[in-house]
Amino acid sequence: MNRIAVMRVWRADLALGIGLEHASASESALEEVFLGIETADGITALAEVRGNGAYATGADTATILRQTQEIVAPALLNCALDEASQRLGSLPVAPLVSALADSALHDARGRATGQPIWRLLEGRGAASIPVHAQIGFCTAKEAVIRARAAARAGFRRLKLRVGRPSPEADIAVIYAIREAVGERMAIAIDCNGGWDVETAGRVLRAIEPCAVAWAEQPTPAGDDDALRHVRAATVIPIIGDEAIRSGRDIDRLARAGAIDGVHLKLEKAGTVAALIGLVERARAAGLTVFLGQMDQGRLGSSMTTHLAAGIEADAYELWGFQNVTADVATGLDIRDGAMIVPQGAGNGMEVDMTKLELVGEFG
Ligand SMILES: [Mg+2]
Repeated sequence: MNRIAVMRVWRADLALGIGLEHASASESALEEVFLGIETADGITALAEVRGNGAYATGADTATILRQTQEIVAPALLNCALDEASQRLGSLPVAPLVSALADSALHDARGRATGQPIWRLLEGRGAASIPVHAQIGFCTAKEAVIRARAAARAGFRRLKLRVGRPSPEADIAVIYAIREAVGERMAIAIDCNGGWDVETAGRVLRAIEPCAVAWAEQPTPAGDDDALRHVRAATVIPIIGDEAIRSGRDIDRLARAGAIDGVHLKLEKAGTVAALIGLVERARAAGLTVFLGQMDQGRLGSSMTTHLAAGIEADAYELWGFQNVTADVATGLDIRDGAMIVPQGAGNGMEVDMTKLELVGEFG
């Protein structure tokens, strides 16, 4: 039995070349937390999540550090590697904290058996997975420059952040991008809950001629009626993101006819097993399923890439590191608008540990 002998927590800030600017965030760096696992047999594993995305995950950096130290480490130390994910699933911690630990456990199990994580999930092992390029808040002129650059780089889909103070500015940017990239590029929008019902209905109807593929979280989470009214006001498919944190949310919103699909993330689901459960629940409810992630570094993004290669969904958002200027990890790359799936054992990534600050050691 391969037992977990030591757990360590590190921190690092990843600077962004283009800041993260949308209706719920204005950040110049990603606050990343790393969890390392060392087994009695000498297997070392590492995982990453982002701490400054509590608007979507519900947990900040301090919560991740505290719950990892006080709840996760005492429960998992000396636990057999093969039994640890199941034990983790029963702990009273934030889903983001479970996601961090389960990512490290999957890396450890992959490295212990010489298999990539997607193979542990019995995935089909796609060599590459198409993703979309993201465009945050910026002027219409800048958005056009970024959209054209994405088209040149081989992307076939853009996701544009909307919900800025001026709805007219949102409309102008969407029209400008559609005109610049032509009909072959799919354009989706993500409002991060930034509109009220009236604004959402008005803007979505105004941009229907732009053939928008979907609109993510047009109104704030927690107001099912708002989503339902918006969905009834437009032909653009409505996708729930911040509103979806549990299977109950999926069932309730589907029953209410408030959404066409869900954007699921390990960071919101908790464990891999919980995420697979949500995917199955959404499919059973007849919903479109998008699998994505928070903006984060390459190591964190690698976990979602393995999940995407291992779990069937309708579309994937895997390129969270696109604006990170100096990452601590290597081994994950994007080519022609598609993420290259790592083939090495575990997450298949290499991390420069000299760039991380050790903040806790347990065991
Ligand atoms: Mg979203």
